[in-house]
Amino acid sequence: MSSTYDVLNPATEEVIETIALASLEETDAAIAKAERAFATWRQVAPADRAMLLRRFAAAVDADRENLALLEVYNAGHTIGNARWEAGNVRDVLEYYAAAPERHLGQQIPVAGGINVTFHEPLGVVGIIVPWNFPMPIAAWGFAPALAAGNTVVLKPAELTPLTAIRLGQLAKEAGLPEGVLNIIPGKGSVVGERFVTHPSVRKVVFTGSTGVGKRIMAGCAEQLKPVTLELGGKSANIIFADSDLEAAAAAAPGGAFDNAGQDCCSRSRILVQDSVYEKFLELLEPVVKALQVGDPGDEDSFMGPLISAGQRNTVSGYVPDGSPIAFQGSAPDGKGFWFPPTVLTPSREDRVMHEEIFGPVVAVVPFSDEPDALRLANDSIYGLSGSIWTRDVGRALRMARGLESGNLSVNSHSSVRYSTPFGGFKQSGLGRELGPDALDAFTETKNVFISTNP
Ligand code: NAD
Repeated sequence: MSSTYDVLNPATEEVIETIALASLEETDAAIAKAERAFATWRQVAPADRAMLLRRFAAAVDADRENLALLEVYNAGHTIGNARWEAGNVRDVLEYYAAAPERHLGQQIPVAGGINVTFHEPLGVVGIIVPWNFPMPIAAWGFAPALAAGNTVVLKPAELTPLTAIRLGQLAKEAGLPEGVLNIIPGKGSVVGERFVTHPSVRKVVFTGSTGVGKRIMAGCAEQLKPVTLELGGKSANIIFADSDLEAAAAAAPGGAFDNAGQDCCSRSRILVQDSVYEKFLELLEPVVKALQVGDPGDEDSFMGPLISAGQRNTVSGYVPDGSPIAFQGSAPDGKGFWFPPTVLTPSREDRVMHEEIFGPVVAVVPFSDEPDALRLANDSIYGLSGSIWTRDVGRALRMARGLESGNLSVNSHSSVRYSTPFGGFKQSGLGRELGPDALDAFTETKNVFISTNP
């Protein structure tokens, strides 16, 4: 039996839509449909698959403003961010539309014949998406999976299903055959778990919390089902005394508070060399206090609300009375799940230095020298992203090589580009998404020897 879920606008707490959540039987039916579609989708000529993906990209492009507004209402993303996210879906589809015709095998020299390899699609791929970046994270999974010849069942997060549902409609309007991309709104414990246990789902791509990711990996082990896991983070923004300190202070709030800090790549620990620590905080304070927090539909808003009352409770729990608050920005009163940008100056041992808060709370602590910065930055179960601010190229490279983290930027906070690999070290994940090799995660390599003996 289906149940329903009231989707809220996190800026107003109003119900914007009631969504039917798929039952186990409906999930199985969608998986069966995807399995049937696989038989023909894998046979679609590479150039035709490419053309359909380009049409899908064009349909997303034409619907960009609508998709962006859905994300403003459903996830509280600022309109500027939401437009970027819808554009990212288009770009990811266009990038992987070029892949079917370029996914080359090898011809390997052997005795007595020729040896060639093929990249065979896996079958039905299950993609489980979190609520923090509903559109891009869905596309980072489905675009390369479809390009490689797989069919997809995709479960959006309960809180944020609207853009995924719309993307599914756009895929159909663009001409993707029935059953190739199936959006199944539902509970993690029902739909998500079924992706793990159903033998016809041949791979699971999961983005979400480290705790759930571990359960998914353990469940997939039963069938030796491959998984890609994109999990939590506690990334460091490391600022050396020789950096452009004004630029580092101006950029730090973007690195920590973008998407209200609900970003797996959030640089939620700022490590500052002790000789410039006080000066850095002085420079940071006016920047944080000037951040515009409010109506996410307002073109000038830098930050919107948190996703839910539950998330606001979790975040507030990290800033109890007596917390070492250096300074805070503003947030609206009244309806909506608001929390102000908050800068803490805790000890190295404090839990805000180790646990993923997933809200607009950043910790700033001093370090002495390069080895100390490296030790401090690597003192985490996570290893997703991070930034290094310095004018010394050698130091930037030494730090970048020493950091146990998958995605680093020097003198910037950029993390994710569709053309470069993305993923985490340690408990931040397993495998990589995006970049030129993404299709390898959605195919098996098959080796074929052809005898030339008479
Ligand atoms: P979550 O783990 O609670 O949920 C993620 C998804 O998994 C949702 O769709 C949920 O319904 C589903 N799910 C829950 N229980 C499940 C189960 N037992 N079996 C299968 N599916 C299940 O995470 P969240 O709160 O939605 O997202 C926040 C987390 O995601 C943070 O930890 C964040 O760091 C992480 N994240 C990581 C990345 C990355 O790329 N590394 C990107 C975004 C978010």
